[in-house]
Amino acid sequence: MKIALIAHDGKKADMVHFLSGFKQKLKSSNVQLVATGTTGLHIEKAGFEVTRVLSGPLGGDAQIAAMAAQKELDMVVFFRDPLDKHPHEPDVQMLMRICDVHHIPLATNLASAELMFKHLNTISK
Ligand code: PGA
Repeated sequence: MKIALIAHDGKKADMVHFLSGFKQKLKSSNVQLVATGTTGLHIEKAGFEVTRVLSGPLGGDAQIAAMAAQKELDMVVFFRDPLDKHPHEPDVQMLMRICDVHHIPLATNLASAELMFKHLNTISK
């Protein structure tokens, strides 16, 4: 199964902390990770294997959306920072819309991501 990970700057530490709590489960479930550029760097540094696409503001969110539209993703975790402004907000909206169109599980905060990861094995194909 393939999971996309994106975190706005104010949420990158939360993303790494979140993933670290599921390290064993991710390994044993044979999950492939894909992330936007800077989020991916943080995740790599924490010891995960991850495929990085462009940074979000440079089109990374759009690349993740394209993967979702092509049914290449099983889940998207997008830790948005609701207290900050983002120049690529249209891409963010587009990604969330594409997930809804294609019924791809999308977690936009820690609580929902934890719930989804606890059920990883039931979501995998
Ligand atoms: P980043 O992009 O991982 O390259 O910071 C995330 C985003 O802001 O959408």
